[in-house]
Amino acid sequence: MITRIMDVSTEPLDMKCIKEAGKILIDGGLVAFPTETVYGLGGDATDKEASKKIYAAKGRPSDNPLIVHIAEFKQLESIAKDLPDTAAKLANAFWPGPLTMVVNKNDVIPYETTGGLDTVAVRMPNNPVALALIKESGCMIAAPSANTSGRPSPTKASHVYEDLSGKIDAILDGGEVDIGLESTIVDLTEDVVTILRPGYINMEMLKQVVGEVRIDPGIVYNDKGTSSGARPKAPGMRYKHYAPKGDLTIISGAEDVVISTINHKAREAIKNGSKVGIIATSETANRYTDGQVLIIGDRSDEGSIAHNLYDILRQFDELNVDIIFSESFATPNMGQAIMNRLLKAAGQKVIEVQENML
Ligand code: AMP
Ligand code: MG
Repeated sequence: MITRIMDVSTEPLDMKCIKEAGKILIDGGLVAFPTETVYGLGGDATDKEASKKIYAAKGRPSDNPLIVHIAEFKQLESIAKDLPDTAAKLANAFWPGPLTMVVNKNDVIPYETTGGLDTVAVRMPNNPVALALIKESGCMIAAPSANTSGRPSPTKASHVYEDLSGKIDAILDGGEVDIGLESTIVDLTEDVVTILRPGYINMEMLKQVVGEVRIDPGIVYNDKGTSSGARPKAPGMRYKHYAPKGDLTIISGAEDVVISTINHKAREAIKNGSKVGIIATSETANRYTDGQVLIIGDRSDEGSIAHNLYDILRQFDELNVDIIFSESFATPNMGQAIMNRLLKAAGQKVIEVQENML
């Protein structure tokens, strides 16, 4: 199959491309498209054959459910069962936007889309291309991130092409995405709203709308980076994910000690014949003495770190580094989402450094 690339990065939006892409979806095909979080790989959510094609193209385990993308609140009502009042409150506050709600499903969405679950995850993306595609096709679009399973999520059309060229019908190229990390997922099927995956919409923002909010114990790690032992409720959070090919370790602690530790470890690794990559910030980059240093963003601008994380991991794949060291990013609002992804990419490997290790 030849994957068509359609440029929809300029305004006004090229509706001819959107119509053609919509036709592909209606006919049961797959189209990758931009959202404000990452690129999604879309198929008609009500068509079980389309969902099966999504799993096949990504190499995704079939028990890892897909998020259904909608353009109007009434589409949520049409696929949910026992929809709680919190859904409308959260939709008013955050849709269109980077919040996915897990609700009980009726028969409209097939089990092939929900990985066999009786619940369905639903989101209204805040991106003109995504919204136009949903409206134009008339389809609710099942779309996981448009990467090969296990690789970092795509934040540019070229990332999608790298992973899925020849396996899907088309890619709508809407330029770089805005946020760069996947949506926050909340479970609305229990008494208390529960965060299943951290994202741009954080705990404090959710609390302001619905009061009490919990975090799924399965995604909480203590400061040594080890799990609480509980099983994450979102199946996707159980898999190794976002992983670069090089072996990534996070070094955490006071800035000066972190930098000297990374310099020391990089020198040792290079001496032993390894190719080393370092994830630095614009504030720290010129203090590294060895290895291939890439700047992820500005420490003073946490959005820039989220935006560039997956691209940096992919760049290190291209550079064929064997070992990667990264600073830690406990930033105020998105810190939890950034560290959740970085820790997964590192297989939870964190070294806490102390002052006296200098
Ligand atoms: P992706 O779109 O690639 O970020 O993957 C979607 C994420 O949503 C995965 O982590 C899934 O496990 C999660 N997800 C989708 N549907 C459900 C559901 N019904 N219950 C819990 N998690 C879900
Ligand atoms: Mg994904």
